[in-house]
Amino acid sequence: MAQISPAQQAFIDTIAPFCIKYAKKYGFKVASAGIAQACLESGYGTGVYPDNRNKVINPLTGEWRHNYFGLKYRPNRVNCNNGYFNSTGTEQHADGSYTPTTTDWYKFESLEKCVEGYYQFINTANYAQVKAATNPLTYLQAIKAAGYASSLNYVENVYKVVENCNLKQYDTSFVVTPVTPVSPSTSNKSSLINYTKLSPNNSGKRTHAIDRITPHCVVGQWDVTTFGSYFGRPDVKASCNYGIAKDGQVALIVDESMRSWCSSSNENDQRAVTIECSSEKTHPYAFNDAVYNKLIDLCTDICRRNGKNILLWIADKNTALNYTPKSNEMLLTVHRWFKAKACPGDWLMARMDDLAAKVTAKLSGAVTSQPVQPTSEFPYIVQITANVLNIRKGPGTNYPVVGQIKDKGKYTIMEVQNGFGRLKSGVGWISMKYTQKI
Ligand SMILES: [Zn+2]
Repeated sequence: MAQISPAQQAFIDTIAPFCIKYAKKYGFKVASAGIAQACLESGYGTGVYPDNRNKVINPLTGEWRHNYFGLKYRPNRVNCNNGYFNSTGTEQHADGSYTPTTTDWYKFESLEKCVEGYYQFINTANYAQVKAATNPLTYLQAIKAAGYASSLNYVENVYKVVENCNLKQYDTSFVVTPVTPVSPSTSNKSSLINYTKLSPNNSGKRTHAIDRITPHCVVGQWDVTTFGSYFGRPDVKASCNYGIAKDGQVALIVDESMRSWCSSSNENDQRAVTIECSSEKTHPYAFNDAVYNKLIDLCTDICRRNGKNILLWIADKNTALNYTPKSNEMLLTVHRWFKAKACPGDWLMARMDDLAAKVTAKLSGAVTSQPVQPTSEFPYIVQITANVLNIRKGPGTNYPVVGQIKDKGKYTIMEVQNGFGRLKSGVGWISMKYTQKI
């Protein structure tokens, strides 16, 4: 850790009260990040930057140039009676290259005016996320995202100053309303939750009602605590509503009423409950049985609590994303539709149909799509009573096994011969001994 000099500390002592005062005046919730920006941009008030833009005194003219934040001149943006001055400098591009530029910089008449000018400068809609930030790191990430600085390492470099100079102490007088905790009495909690560690990585309340579920593969066999500690880190800048651990336990990471940062799509995550699932680390990112079975249960529970009795999987991306679910329908979506990545993995992709069918089967009223013919005994619906039931090519044990039913689900029988029922799907026949007509 870098040692700070008495002169540097003196600069911090001078500027900090003004940063606190004007951050509050303009509705910001953090002062430390602004103090750190001023330290870095002005060389702790000494103007060591090569383009001289922050020099307190121009050595040639003796003229004062209070601009500790590297603020570029924008007409009518802030109150600055002194106008601006020019300098040549460099601008860094996304590819790391530099080009020389001539820039106009504000020239404030005092340090205090300069600090107020800085908060006026960022007191615009473009910087709304900066104003919303309740800690210096999210503040700096937001200010960089809003285009304040072009340097690629800006956030990292300024945040280092926050830490090295112990600047968080200047944030303690801000009254901050916590973003994450939700009153338990008003939230719609799942009874399947085994562990809760709320993540700061969220956008607060959803702006869209829940009508999607997006399962992900987390690419690793995680415990509930791994979900909690990983998504608890602000620098990860990601989260999920739920995590399913390798043993099938469920972690609550972002309350269901809030928008998580999971699927690389604001539009999707505003309306989707996102679920990160433990998986193998390599293609096809398979889930073990405990994880997959819990995913089925959790999706069922989410649908039920949100008033849905059908979980839909539409394999075609464009059709799915253009589909407006009916009030009783929940739509499945996948991360790979929003970003070029494997998530949720080919293993789950091959089972999205199965997931939708099993969840829908578990939800009441989901099997009425096949109307029962009043004039005939067939078709009718049975519930499977055996844990594992063979499907045979024909009506008898002398026919080869072509598949198995392991979900104790509900199936439609088209006809019965020799005690075997023919499945509507056309896959084959099952023994009626292990079924119950419903
Ligand atoms: Zn994903």
